Amino acid sequence: MSQDNNVFSKIIAGEIPTEFVYEDDLCVAFNDINPQAPIHILIVPREPIASLDKARNKDQEMLGYLLLIAAEIAREQGFAENGYRIVINTNGDGGQTVFHLHVHLLGGRPFVFPPG
Ligand code: 5GP
Repeated sequence: MSQDNNVFSKIIAGEIPTEFVYEDDLCVAFNDINPQAPIHILIVPREPIASLDKARNKDQEMLGYLLLIAAEIAREQGFAENGYRIVINTNGDGGQTVFHLHVHLLGGRPFVFPPG
């Protein structure tokens, strides 16, 4: 069992009550508390990796899995065809605030590129 103490590990452990829009043995997904779009879902692996910068070859399958789950959620919620934005903020300049790797799935409006 992980000793990790970040907010997402607490959510996964049930210490911060949070409704999951998706969950399985490997990951959970829930609405962001401070949504940046009409749809803003976080997909979070149950086993923490601090950031993409800390991911290694052993994490290859999990990284791909998180993206496939994001795509599946977008299809199931009916906004895949309109489109969506996937974001993995990484370290300080990347805007990462929770050091438990997670995928942002944003939808429900158009997004510009490059992001700010
Ligand atoms: P980051 O900035 O690390 O890429 O993303 C962290 C995200 O987690 C932010 O968008 C923030 O709003 C969200 N967040 C932080 N604490 C909580 C929480 O307790 N519950 C939920 N649902 N989202 C959170």
